[in-house]
Amino acid sequence: MGLLALNGGTPVRRGGWPDWPQSSDATRRNLDAVLASHRWSISGQYRGEHSWEQRFADAFADFTDARCCVPAATGTASLTIALEACGVGAGDEVIVPGVTWVASASAVLGINAVPVLTDVDPATGCLDPDAVARAITPRCRAVTVVHLGSAVADLDALLAVTARHGIPLIEDCAQAHGARYKDRHVGRFGAAGTFSMQHSKLLTSGEGGAVITDDPVLARRVAHLRADGRTFSATPPAMDDMELVETAEIMGSNHCLSEFHAAILLAQMEKLPRETARRAASAARLDVLLRGLGCSPQETAAGTTMRAYYSYVVRLPATLTQVVGIKRAAAALSAELGLPCKPMYASLDRNPLYNPASRRRFALGDRFLAAVRPDSFALSAASDFSRCCISLPHRLLLAEPDEMQQVADAFAKVIAHGAELA
Ligand SMILES: *Cc1c(COP(=O)(O)O)cnc(C)c1O
Repeated sequence: MGLLALNGGTPVRRGGWPDWPQSSDATRRNLDAVLASHRWSISGQYRGEHSWEQRFADAFADFTDARCCVPAATGTASLTIALEACGVGAGDEVIVPGVTWVASASAVLGINAVPVLTDVDPATGCLDPDAVARAITPRCRAVTVVHLGSAVADLDALLAVTARHGIPLIEDCAQAHGARYKDRHVGRFGAAGTFSMQHSKLLTSGEGGAVITDDPVLARRVAHLRADGRTFSATPPAMDDMELVETAEIMGSNHCLSEFHAAILLAQMEKLPRETARRAASAARLDVLLRGLGCSPQETAAGTTMRAYYSYVVRLPATLTQVVGIKRAAAALSAELGLPCKPMYASLDRNPLYNPASRRRFALGDRFLAAVRPDSFALSAASDFSRCCISLPHRLLLAEPDEMQQVADAFAKVIAHGAELA
């Protein structure tokens, strides 16, 4: 093994990994159909055809076995309207995991609620049910759980805690399309499940989102919240009339998914099961190879029956992370593989992206600002998880499972040369 690629040596591999996202004939066909349809949004006039948005909603409800699905413009919007539909608002506390993409917390702030940053399980990186039990106060109005990376959170234990307190569990499934717990799709355990279809996610239209729920009353509130207080008429309107009717049952905002995005998602969904299976096969191979090098792949809750790999998260050997920071280790791996390998997100108590005091809109008074101060939360497992874990992008897992040997070779090289990085 020669010099590290980061220090001018020959890399293990010079890129050439599968690309993400990937188009398809069906994607192009659907997009052309929207262009020709003269209806580019559900808030455009009815042209005699079922909207692409409703077709996608039906297909995604089928895929997850949910009774209702309401598409939305982004994952953030989906989380926002799911929380509001559950009655969460100004000054309410909402439990949020201490390590996640920043939007899990900023969406809570966005409805003037207080994100209560709560510690995670050290093996899965997902909410720790015992920490949740300790963090719940009489002001807590919801718990949001994130199925992070490739893990499913311990839903049974979390539901036991939320049921005991009579508060809703909302599943942020932005990283978990296709994941199952006890043979049921995630997002169907709590009051609602929210999804993102942003560029990096396992199902994508560039930007996009959806809320699923088995509760039609909740779904109706979500629908109004995403379309300025309008929802679909029960029967199709006359040609060129509006299909959205102004019921004004609850005031909303415009978080609608465009017809283009819905059409892309419908086509992209066709390849999701195949991709999920391929990623799982590559990840299984990688688990064995990396364990042999002293690394610890992210674990998942015991009831998990299908993992979806949004990212392949792995804890590096302590012998390496004690001498070199995770950023340097990630840079060294990226250089060996020709692929961006990233440190896990910084925990939210010290994440530069999570800074409520930088926004004037949160200047709601000293009490509010004190309650949302990121560094007032104790997140020892979350910050340890951030400091010691690397996250590999899911497109890597779309390669042939045999190619995982090269990934392991890169890890072995970086671990052996750790001292050169310090
Ligand atoms: C991506 C993501 C979001 C936000 O989704 P957007 O579509 O980017 O708004 C929320 N939570 C988690 C866990 C995510 O990964």
